[in-house]
Amino acid sequence: MEKVRGDQLYEGKAKIVYATANPEHYLVYYKDDATAFNGVKKGIISGKGELNNRISAHFFELLERRGIQTHFVELVSPREMLVRKVTILPIEVVVRNIAAGSLAKRLGLAEGTTLKQPVLEYYYKDDDLGDPLINEYHIRALDLATDADLAILAEQALKINAILSEYLATRRLKLVDFKLEFGRTTQGEVILADEISPDTCRFWDSDTQEKLDKDRFRRDLGGVEEAYQEIWRRLTGGAE
Ligand code: UDP
Repeated sequence: MEKVRGDQLYEGKAKIVYATANPEHYLVYYKDDATAFNGVKKGIISGKGELNNRISAHFFELLERRGIQTHFVELVSPREMLVRKVTILPIEVVVRNIAAGSLAKRLGLAEGTTLKQPVLEYYYKDDDLGDPLINEYHIRALDLATDADLAILAEQALKINAILSEYLATRRLKLVDFKLEFGRTTQGEVILADEISPDTCRFWDSDTQEKLDKDRFRRDLGGVEEAYQEIWRRLTGGAE
């Protein structure tokens, strides 16, 4: 019963969140809608919702097995997952291993430059402001999170990076960079939430450096659907 969709609570660019009969759970529906550059570029990536739902579930299950607490409860349908109810912190946590995108531009690094150590960045989740880059001082000054929350975000993000990078390397994929969001449960714990997918990560083929992520959409490289399918195929060897 609890899996039946209740009221729609929130519609974002790529997902819709619904209430369920269980006050501790939400249902997340993954859409095919794609946006880039703070919503300026819009499109549809057909089959994306289903792939991102499955890919995210796959990563959340892997992370749970490795001791990371996530909001993931279970897959409900090809495009829907049941998650723990959390209040999302207004901070996007980005981890980078290789220079790309905004970091390459900001620091004048060639895309593909391996960083000497992972870089952790915070962005203020605010569409009107275009999600500006912030640091711990801004977070404290704006009261976006406590020092205890910040310690969890940094520790968990770096652990997640180590787990995912190692796992993806066995699938001949490089984890270039990715974005995480965390949420507070009704019990007050801060846990990993949102999604982990080709929409929110840069994945490059380890051998050819081919981009297998949303950059194919952002940069009009073609083969967008095929890239998302390829990620799923590498994670599962084609099995469901
Ligand atoms: N990212 C994201 N949502 C955002 C901004 C970035 O998921 O609103 C991800 C993006 O897919 C990449 C990483 O965070 O894996 C770093 O993105 P970057 O700052 O380079 O920005 P971009 O070049 O994508 O605008």
